[in-house]
Amino acid sequence: MKELTPFSAIPRKELHTQLPQTNFDLIVIGGGVTGCGIALDAASRGLKTLLLEKGDFASGTSSKSTKLIHGGLRYLKQLEIGLVRETGTERAIVHRLAPHLVLPEKMLLPLIENGTYGRTATSFGLKVYDILAGVKGKDKRRMLSKKEALEKEPLLDEKVLKGAGYYAEYRTDDARLTIELIKTAARYGALALNYCKVIDFLYEEGEVSAVVCEDQAMGNTFEVHAKHIVSAGGPWVDQLRKVDNSLKGKSLHLTKGVHIVVPHEKLPVNYSVYFDVPDGRMMFAIPRGKVTYIGTTDTTYKGDLNRVVATAEDAQYIMESVNNAFPSIQLQMKDLISNWAGLRPLIHEDGKSPSELSRKDEIFISDTGLISIAGGKLTGYRKMAQRIVDLVVEQEESRSFKDCFTKEISLTPVPLPNYAAVKIYIENLKERVHALGLSDYHAWYLTTTYGKQSELILDKMQDMEGASAGTRLLRAELWFGVHYEMVQSLTDFFVRRTGRLYFDILSIEPAKDIIAEDLQDYLNLNDAQLIEEKEQLQTLLYDATHYYEEELV
Ligand code: FAD
Repeated sequence: MKELTPFSAIPRKELHTQLPQTNFDLIVIGGGVTGCGIALDAASRGLKTLLLEKGDFASGTSSKSTKLIHGGLRYLKQLEIGLVRETGTERAIVHRLAPHLVLPEKMLLPLIENGTYGRTATSFGLKVYDILAGVKGKDKRRMLSKKEALEKEPLLDEKVLKGAGYYAEYRTDDARLTIELIKTAARYGALALNYCKVIDFLYEEGEVSAVVCEDQAMGNTFEVHAKHIVSAGGPWVDQLRKVDNSLKGKSLHLTKGVHIVVPHEKLPVNYSVYFDVPDGRMMFAIPRGKVTYIGTTDTTYKGDLNRVVATAEDAQYIMESVNNAFPSIQLQMKDLISNWAGLRPLIHEDGKSPSELSRKDEIFISDTGLISIAGGKLTGYRKMAQRIVDLVVEQEESRSFKDCFTKEISLTPVPLPNYAAVKIYIENLKERVHALGLSDYHAWYLTTTYGKQSELILDKMQDMEGASAGTRLLRAELWFGVHYEMVQSLTDFFVRRTGRLYFDILSIEPAKDIIAEDLQDYLNLNDAQLIEEKEQLQTLLYDATHYYEEELV
């Protein structure tokens, strides 16, 4: 297998000596999908780029989405044609760039009596959706009769069902997409640090020219200089605008979205279903490996940005919606095995409810030259990045840079060429994982998480002794995560590199102590740091399995 470029948590000290001495072309604040997309676009065009993230990459909204790479059918209803066209076209591009990670997903839109979507409007809407997104051949939408819809999804409510729309979208793992983006940016020369918070800006003749940052892992503060500074701080964008004294005009309106997770057998849908909720909203039920996840809510949020939790009311609302759409399923609190809650950084519009607010992105340029971007979708990250870097490059009159070519940059170091190759790869991997004591599930999990990088992990696992196969796999994944994906903490590993907290929570408990010891060895942590690591993981496990009475403030 091709040699991979390390993207490691270990040589952090070396970076620290390098950063204050370098004059960057661009500093990107925020390592969500938007910031990492910008870093890739900029570095690939030749800009000397640094990305700083205050927590882990994707620790904000970019690990808490519905994880669909989609055109957003409902935006068509709101006549946001431009947004649907852009995200619709982008989904096929992002699938081509990472076919193991952005997987085709057939969606079912049940048509019910007095539902949001009528038959004629759905048929027309899905057709327009296909045309805007350039969907071709067998992927084009089909309208199903009631009988056909029930054959596909017997759990639907026969009493009110009138038929269904059947159409194509893509499903991803948002955090993995983000980490592959920043790894790719690093292959093009970008530097990136997680756990490094921007706390202030410095100015020269009124223009922002440097950031002051605090390394949360090493405990020191330092300055880094750059010609251009972009804030892709997601829900924190206004806080950074405030530090820059430029928070005026439009501002963010944060809304919270919760997803709950149940074992697949508790809601055994065959397809992803986009179903009606009695209050007029729509919700997704999405099967994924061992689980089905369901969401989302959409409520104005004023609580703690750094610890967003699901409330009992959120869980109740989602369960009632499921039980209404699939009457043979009667979900109860005890069926829920995990959850996540995230914030949409939307742009405030007077008089509009959370669900009515536009999902379009917005760029703010302050008098000091700080460029901020917020809103938008995971799906549209590439075009958002292009717009930002175009803006930066336009200001560089005396230098020339390449045009954007991220459309052609594969998001994995060892790409699989297309989805057919992904399916063959999963089949071929089964023999190898069986020989190591793992199951078919692991062949699917490894491929859809790491693509061909799985081979490096399995090679490592082969060298490991003792413990169960599941634990040996986790240890090999941790080794990979620390050396190739800048894992700094247990939560980076269990939440954002492996998705275990959400999709395989039961695998954490038996392995967490041995994984903690490995992490201590790799990162040279002292005992107090190890205890802190374990406590942080415990807090996240608690939040993912508990439902609070109210938001934390
Ligand atoms: P974030 O991911 O929040 O990244 C911002 C980062 O900036 C954070 O990691 C934060 O730690 C960092 N930061 C902030 N301040 C500082 C600082 N001072 N110094 C350093 N770093 C800092 N989109 C889709 O396309 N498909 C979907 O299915 C979908 N579903 C969604 C469901 C929900 C419930 C939500 C909430 C959103 C959904 N979205 C979806 C939208 C999508 O998730 C977001 O548009 C996207 O993740 C936003 O990414 P971001 O990088 O702008 O923000």
